[in-house]
Amino acid sequence: MTGFVLMVAGFAAAGMGHGCYVVMGGSSSPFALVNNVAVAMFSTPVVWGVLGALACSTSRGGRMAFLAAMAAHYLALMPILTGNGNFSDWDYMHRQGDMVYWAVVLGAVVYGCGHIGLWTAFLLGLPRRGPAGVCTKCQYSRAGLPPNSPCPECGQAHGAQ
Ligand SMILES: [Zn+2]
Repeated sequence: MTGFVLMVAGFAAAGMGHGCYVVMGGSSSPFALVNNVAVAMFSTPVVWGVLGALACSTSRGGRMAFLAAMAAHYLALMPILTGNGNFSDWDYMHRQGDMVYWAVVLGAVVYGCGHIGLWTAFLLGLPRRGPAGVCTKCQYSRAGLPPNSPCPECGQAHGAQ
């Protein structure tokens, strides 16, 4: 699953070399906020790699980090794509005609697929943190136990997970 997400991320990174910074800025959000093309270019694979890893995380912290990162990403899209910076060059897109226009459309599609992949990985991972974990106190296996029963080994209470 991680490989799938990283592959999508690779396509996303490759798809944005063409013509217009709009896609690059969007894909590297929130780092494109610094309004530097080089930062955006190099941070894009980092952003997608980290998002992919977090989406596949089975720990509670990883999942919270994923949600926080995605929230930051979406929130930052607005100022990046509507502001006066390098990454809101919609005029450039219109001036350059069909080639750039389709490159941006393609980039947007790749970007959208990447996000679908991330959320799919995230949602598929959810059931995995079920009752078949270990005791948070003594690491005794909880396989086969009801989710909210106390640990049979040390008596540690466990809420429904
Ligand atoms: Zn225990």
